[in-house]
Amino acid sequence: MTTLNIYLDRLSHNLKFLRSKISSKSELIAVVKANAYGHGAVEIAKCLEDLGITMLAVASADEGKILRKNGIKCNIIVFYPNPSDVSKIIKFSLEPAIFSKRMWVDLTFELKKLELNDFPVHLKFNTGLNRIGFEAKEIDWIKGKITDSSFKIKSVYSHLSSSEEKRENNFTDNQIKAFERIKSLFLSIDTSIKFHLLNSSGVFNYPECNYDWVRIGISLYGYANNIEWDKNLLPIAELTTKILQIHELEKDQVVGYNNGWIAKQKTTVATIPIGHADGIGRCFGNSNVPVWIKNKRAEIIGNICMDMFMVNITNINCAEGDEVVIFNKENPANMFAETGGSISYELLSSIGNRIIRNYL
Ligand SMILES: *Cc1c(COP(=O)(O)O)cnc(C)c1O
Repeated sequence: MTTLNIYLDRLSHNLKFLRSKISSKSELIAVVKANAYGHGAVEIAKCLEDLGITMLAVASADEGKILRKNGIKCNIIVFYPNPSDVSKIIKFSLEPAIFSKRMWVDLTFELKKLELNDFPVHLKFNTGLNRIGFEAKEIDWIKGKITDSSFKIKSVYSHLSSSEEKRENNFTDNQIKAFERIKSLFLSIDTSIKFHLLNSSGVFNYPECNYDWVRIGISLYGYANNIEWDKNLLPIAELTTKILQIHELEKDQVVGYNNGWIAKQKTTVATIPIGHADGIGRCFGNSNVPVWIKNKRAEIIGNICMDMFMVNITNINCAEGDEVVIFNKENPANMFAETGGSISYELLSSIGNRIIRNYL
């Protein structure tokens, strides 16, 4: 009943637009972590491969394994591997990011045991986000280890903390400067190393920092974190369901758990069969977030339940079984998400397993 329709021609459109935005010398890494931001990693990866993408990125080794088991041949970068994933990384020909001495040492140990050489890895540096990555001052340590390592360092990268924010931005400029210094140190070691810094918003706001590769996630799926840039992209997914039941309430009757909403007057209420377990978080309750029925705005009332929520349809002429749009091209997921105090990333990547993905 509840379906996420995914329009692959729009994915192709977005990819084409993104390619036009980056320098012809730069290449795209398509980020398909978190089940391709909820859109279905295997199908999206297959489509991207058909569209000529040669590098994919996932968060965990298990995500990479799923892609390999489903026949994906691209290079697959693992952004956030755990040292205990080493054997999986080797077995499924994944390319790990190495972001700490611990990761470097553990992976080297395993590769030496297996007498593997030139294993492709990507070095991640922390330039200010303080999430994950080597510190620039650890480059000396790395230099001391490089000749005796089993690695082929394919790329060196970092991640901006505020790429969606407008220029001038001192913090971002300092991150870029720090990355430039790291880049020149590595170029003096090996000129074949590639460099990358930008995610989706970065591609739009910092076009001079394309470097060799860019890492594109949310914009593939149609969102650019900016109203202007959004106009060039098409949301590839539309989430719809059907009204399960309609109730007529008198003044002072209540809706949902803990009597979360009280009718100030006669009200018609529709029950929509999608809830927490499907990715509609608690923040969407009682916050005037609209869904769309017969092209009219129906606001969510009361607390969200595990499998359902309720909307006010007093002024909408509709019936049980009528279609309900949670988000589509005209009412994009970022608007639904932001009205509820969430963001497109969280909403899309939370879309639950029991929602059918339908590829068109
Ligand atoms: C998720 C991720 C990206 C993609 O970011 P978007 O904003 O979705 O384009 C890029 N780089 C890294 C390291 C990531 O973890």
